[in-house]
Amino acid sequence: MSYNIIVLVKQVPDTKNITVDAMKPDGTVNRSALPTIFNPEDLNALEEALKIKDKYGAKITVLTMGPPNATDVLRQSLFLGADDVILLSDRKFAAADTLATSYALSLAIKKIGDFDLIIGGRQAIDGDTAQVGPQTAEKLNINQATCVDKIVKLSDGSITVNRTTDYGLETIKAKLPILLTITADANIPRPPSVKKTLTYKNAISLIEKHNYGDEYLKSDNNNKPFIITNWDHKDIKAQTERCGLSGSPTQVKKIENIVLEAGESKEIENSDDGLRSLIVELMSEHIIG
Ligand SMILES: Cc1cc2nc3c(=O)[nH]c(=O)nc-3n(C[C@H](O)[C@H](O)[C@H](O)COP(=O)(O)OP(=O)(O)OC[C@H]3O[C@@H](n4cnc5c(N)ncnc54)[C@H](O)[C@@H]3O)c2cc1C
Repeated sequence: MSYNIIVLVKQVPDTKNITVDAMKPDGTVNRSALPTIFNPEDLNALEEALKIKDKYGAKITVLTMGPPNATDVLRQSLFLGADDVILLSDRKFAAADTLATSYALSLAIKKIGDFDLIIGGRQAIDGDTAQVGPQTAEKLNINQATCVDKIVKLSDGSITVNRTTDYGLETIKAKLPILLTITADANIPRPPSVKKTLTYKNAISLIEKHNYGDEYLKSDNNNKPFIITNWDHKDIKAQTERCGLSGSPTQVKKIENIVLEAGESKEIENSDDGLRSLIVELMSEHIIG
């Protein structure tokens, strides 16, 4: 049996390089000012999909909602082995919180059509909410399993997975279709294939073509660039009031880099008493417990 898999990936600011102009005066993230990377746990999500493809056969469609330059993570997905990629990009989606993001993603998934599995990362390193996966599953009214670090079995229309919780290991068996969110412990993402990189290195979306000019698209058949599908709010029949900032009850007020100064740390005696006093202090500050 071959599977239809949709992988949700996000292009994120490289949070190790947050600069002073990271935020716009209106409190939204200034994404164009920040170096961007492939969200790490989304590489693990794509790797799980590729492992299913290797073992059972699958068609992998990678979907991302983001600004026009989010095609970078889609090109990377093609280099890694994705069969198709879709960019959901429209000014109306800008500054979306998780509610508005999952709304747009769920409509795009409905437009893609049949699927057996949706696989996303546990969380994105910028928003860090881990909410988009579960919210998208809810909007599609399908099963979900989050924080999955092992797919144990896939057969006869059902799946068995292991997930790590605060209370230990949990094994879940559920019917397809299902949405999974994958942790970094699940696998080690494979490197991009040289052959696929050469094939797709010129892939572009039509909203980028102004960077390349019409000649680029007229190149002969052999070098014709792979066109990345781009959908806007009309293509997915989205209600604009449920998209972007207007569809987002949560707005990020401020983000800043927290760099601990020497004065702010203290040495703990390496003994049971030292450990006990540390735990008491952390509990009294409601950091744990
Ligand atoms: C510092 C900061 C704090 C924020 N706090 C909140 C908050 O408290 N509540 C809130 O609603 N919003 C918040 N946001 C906005 C939030 O980041 C965006 O809504 C974002 O699009 C999705 O949330 P996330 O980054 O937490 O993703 P997560 O929910 O952590 O992402 C989980 C997975 O969902 C998939 N996914 C997420 N975004 C996309 C996408 N654009 N395209 C495709 N797949 C995707 C990926 O597989 C990803 O691994 C915050 C943003 C920032 C920068």
